[in-house]
This record gives sequence, C-alpha cells and structure tokens, in this order.
Amino acid sequence: MDRVSLDRFAHGLPDPQDAQNRFVCMCACGCREPIYEWDVVIECTLTGDLYASERCFVRASDARRVLAGTREAVT
Ligand SMILES: [Zn+2]
Repeated sequence: MDRVSLDRFAHGLPDPQDAQNRFVCMCACGCREPIYEWDVVIECTLTGDLYASERCFVRASDARRVLAGTREAVT
C-alpha cells in the first residue's frame, strides 16, 4: 500500500505574523527610529512627514514642553 506523502504539510503555510511589516521610512526628526507599516505614528499634515512619537514631533518643531506660567522647560 502506497503511503501518502505528508511532506507538503510538514512546514505549513508561512505565518503572516512572522513576516516583518514593510519599512515605510525613518522618523523625520532625525532620531533614526524606523517606522513600519501599521505603526501608529504622528503625521505632519502640512508636510506629510512621519514622526515616531509625539516627542519626536515636538523635538522637530519649534515647540517645547514647559510648565505653564513659568516658561520652564520640562524634559
Ligand atoms: Zn524621531
């Protein structure tokens, strides 16, 4: 009696979650943080640039975090 080969089932289909999400760009602030597809990031609606986080966007903008009423910078 012939044996049915199960070889084609041995490895299965590739798990989509194993695949690395597609690289989109580096963070526009210059921190070299890579941004991948499906990452939640900050987009500047004026330029379309993507930033890895709010902190990156603030760093790249003419903005800073301060204590209101004191102008004291908060890091
Ligand atoms: Zn950044």
